[in-house]
Amino acid sequence: MDFSYSSYEKLISLLKQYNYSITDYNNYKKYEKSVILRHDIDFSIKDSYKFSLFEESLGIKSNYFVLLSTGFYNPMEKRVRKMLRDMHNRGFTIGLHFDTTAYDNTDLNKPIQSEKHILEEILEAPVNLIAFHRPAPTALANNLKFPGLINVYSKEFFHDCKYCSDSRFFWRDNPYELITSQKYDRLQILTHAFCWAESDRCPAHVYKSFISQASWERYKYLTENIRNPEEFISEEEARKLWLNK
Ligand SMILES: [Zn+2]
Repeated sequence: MDFSYSSYEKLISLLKQYNYSITDYNNYKKYEKSVILRHDIDFSIKDSYKFSLFEESLGIKSNYFVLLSTGFYNPMEKRVRKMLRDMHNRGFTIGLHFDTTAYDNTDLNKPIQSEKHILEEILEAPVNLIAFHRPAPTALANNLKFPGLINVYSKEFFHDCKYCSDSRFFWRDNPYELITSQKYDRLQILTHAFCWAESDRCPAHVYKSFISQASWERYKYLTENIRNPEEFISEEEARKLWLNK
């Protein structure tokens, strides 16, 4: 299975063909066979926003998890806030993607509640889902609970559901085979929109262009935040940096 939008569309068709209802983390038990579609936003809100429009065109809704403690994007930035609110308003569920390594606290509940609150302010809506970013084995083994939040790595969703993920452009289990095997009535499928595009791309290319694109974005921010940036670096020079010329 490659990382093209058409492969994802095939995944959704197979789920429907095998009678899986596409549900959320609250109502999945109501259905004989259910799947929860999850997306962790590790690198780019823009890719996730685009992916949500694609999912909408397929007539489906899913769950996106936002990382607050990341250097890759800023959830407080105006255009990012707008995208997140729009996703929420179009019926997608937005949860908290939490990086435990960002804090020294042994009691994680305090920073978790504080990030939950920040994300609620950004969305202007309640947040009741949490997914750990790159969870440590202990975080997976201990069935952790936090007030006001559903932990999508709790036993209920990680062991009692068949969990399948595309981490680092790699599927440990082929989701097509999981669906057609008819062995599982409950699925949680995690994808990262960053990996997906209209046509399949090689992972090295995706990471390299992600890095070079960042220099151009920096330049654009610079032009918005200092007077006369051309005095120091011209648009042409910035473009050359971006395109590595
Ligand atoms: Zn993550």
